[in-house]
Amino acid sequence: MCMQQSRSCKCGRNMAYLSYRDNVLVPEILFNLYCPECSHQVEWDAGSMVKDCGWILEYDMPGARFCMTQRGLNGPITPEFLFEEGYLTWQGFSPLDHEVNSRLHERLAPLVKEDMQKYLQALKTEWLAHVAALKAAGWRKAQQA
Ligand SMILES: [Zn+2]
Repeated sequence: MCMQQSRSCKCGRNMAYLSYRDNVLVPEILFNLYCPECSHQVEWDAGSMVKDCGWILEYDMPGARFCMTQRGLNGPITPEFLFEEGYLTWQGFSPLDHEVNSRLHERLAPLVKEDMQKYLQALKTEWLAHVAALKAAGWRKAQQA
């Protein structure tokens, strides 16, 4: 199981659900999280940051490299690598995917008693539409979906 956790951005106006692949990294490795409303004040540093649709994740790279090496994971460890490979990234494709998914299940729940097949089909159709919208909006993790 991968640990999951939510976190507020620097300005506190938004939050994101995060996922930690194989629990290699700990929450402290995400030095700062900036939402589109607070990311513009950030001085960009490609050596420690990843940008995704206005959000910026700032990693403690020495800390991340230490954790990875402890687990025998070597190689070019970059912010993009941590994000794309899932070591410290969105849960799902975007910061609020977890919530979107829960709300979708909740909304379609009445269908379960009515028609299971219809429920599963609706779930699939609506989720795929959501992912397509994220992809069109340019979310990094949705690009390979
Ligand atoms: Zn913010």
